[in-house]
Amino acid sequence: MALLQIAEPGRATAPHQHRLAVGIDLGTTNSLVATVQSGQPRVLPDGQGRMLLPSVVHYAADGSTAVGQDAQALAAAHPLDTIASAKRLIGRRRADLPPGSVALRLEDMPGMVGIRTQAGLKTPVDVGAEVLRRLRERAEAALGGPLVGAVITVPAYFDDAQRQATKDAAQQAGLNVLRLLNEPTAAAVAYGLDQGSEGVYVVYDLGGGTFDVSVLRLARGVFEVLATAGDAMLGGDDFDRAIVDWWLPQTGRDAGGAELAALLREARIAKERLSSQGTVELRHPAGGSLLLTRAVFEAVTAGLIARTLVPVRKALRDAGIRADEVDGIVLVGGATRMPQVRAAVERHFGRAPYTGIDPDQAVALGAAIQADQLAGNRGADGLLLLDVCPLSLGLETMGGLVEKIIPRNATLPTARAQDFTTFKDGQTAMSLHVVQGERELVAECRSLARFTLHGIPPMTAGAARIRVTFQVDADGLLGVSAVEQISGVHAHIEVKPSYGLSNEHVVDMLRSAIGAAESDAHARMAREAQVDARRLLDATQAALHQDGDALLSPPEQQAIVAAMQAVSDQLEAVLTDAQARAGEQPDQQPDQQPNGQPDLLAQRDALRAATEALNRATATFAMRRMDAGIRAALTGRRVEQVAV
Ligand code: ADP
Ligand code: MG
Repeated sequence: MALLQIAEPGRATAPHQHRLAVGIDLGTTNSLVATVQSGQPRVLPDGQGRMLLPSVVHYAADGSTAVGQDAQALAAAHPLDTIASAKRLIGRRRADLPPGSVALRLEDMPGMVGIRTQAGLKTPVDVGAEVLRRLRERAEAALGGPLVGAVITVPAYFDDAQRQATKDAAQQAGLNVLRLLNEPTAAAVAYGLDQGSEGVYVVYDLGGGTFDVSVLRLARGVFEVLATAGDAMLGGDDFDRAIVDWWLPQTGRDAGGAELAALLREARIAKERLSSQGTVELRHPAGGSLLLTRAVFEAVTAGLIARTLVPVRKALRDAGIRADEVDGIVLVGGATRMPQVRAAVERHFGRAPYTGIDPDQAVALGAAIQADQLAGNRGADGLLLLDVCPLSLGLETMGGLVEKIIPRNATLPTARAQDFTTFKDGQTAMSLHVVQGERELVAECRSLARFTLHGIPPMTAGAARIRVTFQVDADGLLGVSAVEQISGVHAHIEVKPSYGLSNEHVVDMLRSAIGAAESDAHARMAREAQVDARRLLDATQAALHQDGDALLSPPEQQAIVAAMQAVSDQLEAVLTDAQARAGEQPDQQPDQQPNGQPDLLAQRDALRAATEALNRATATFAMRRMDAGIRAALTGRRVEQVAV
């Protein structure tokens, strides 16, 4: 895999002039903005000295907004107009979300989910933009001028749509995005792991509502994400709930609505205090109190800690790395302040994690360092970071097969080209269908975009040379171009897929690809046999039309027509069978029927046999056509002029 050093266009040329740039951690629960001042990264507080801005937005009836702590204060009274955790929705469609998983009034919007509020329909992009705007204003007030740009972090598993939506939010907030950066990579940069030490690092990020683990490799000055895993439904909030579940039965009361919210708030404060003290007092809003010791807290949350180790093992397995081969572990996310988390990580890896940097600031600090570099304040000493492509990108080819152009985990930015040709004589247009996924069949991958290359000069099938180039930029966004090499006609598309491919979808697509590798290979062979058969039928048809009467006797023609009929009957049977199967299980995912796998191999063999019979039936005809062609070419020339 080629590792590239990126040359950034538009870098500052005047090194003495410090350009204002920030790093922003746009978190599910909390967001932060940081910058580099006098060579040191630091988080910028608000006017009251608070570092974290809760990622919560309240929409008032008059259209005004409250963000952060101010919005949180309004959440209990206005639950439907106060939006938290919008990051879970960004770049997704309503259909991607488990029903009932979001306690907001959700609506379908083209390519995304809408949220109905008293101030109208809002999108997750709008919510993200409000948070980002507050952070921009905070930074501009603190730094005393407009920003040249920001590095914004995103989870390593974010797909194209989620990254694009994050960029859209930044633009809406008046921010120039210098780069989207993976959160784990940013944390590793904050620890200075990019400065010299080569090796494999694990980033363990336990936030408010999500858990992400990434395996990074630093080699030759470049970070690569080897694997990511996580649990989108596991975070610090679950520890709050565990406290309430232990507490509630002892209060002798039922709690719901506002009272439950108050208990959860109390539990969160208790949890955070237990990270630095041995015992806390839980005070019930309706009176009465109870002592909670760290030992009890650790006992009631042991299951949650164990759950984080499942994705840890998976990520290591996917990366092909053993726990004892890891050179360092970085803790990220406020919830990793809990001593039992640190202890569990240390036990698992047999070494203590890095804890020198505040775990809820690490991502923003690393982003600030990267922003400082991209803004040109560091000269050429800093390195620029690379991400990887989470799923393979490819093109649909004949027979509904996928030709992978950029493989999964290719280091970004990347550009790869492949040549294609026309399938039919005189074909003047070629439609290109860009897909994402690991499966061999288009129907089982995700469709990203379609476009058409027009104006190909008419040529015989296979003569045109169409070079298709896939380019993925450093933000993970894809552009595809197609150029016919002889005529130079070209077409280009920026792939901005409709928002919406969830983390779980990525995982599902990978899982089904692995599970289905064998059946995919069978399916591919069957499709290839179909493509061959159809190509031969078309060619024979054209030849008969042109030269059949001149070169063949009527019985010879009949024999060929009969062999053609046999091939087309066989093709028909395959297609009817496929349709029947599709009709039988209308709502079953294609990747969920490993047992219902039809006998694709038998179908392929029957089709092959018919195709070969047609080949034999046309052998004489082909020879005569060749002779006729040679005779025509030689007409008017003397034999000795023809070099042998
Ligand atoms: P996100 O990345 O999801 O935006 P954060 O990294 O800000 O989230 O983590 C928020 C979580 O960290 C919350 O559940 C919060 O209660 C928890 N947290 C913050 N400080 C502490 C602490 N001192 N001890 C334990 N948990 C903490
Ligand atoms: Mg975070």
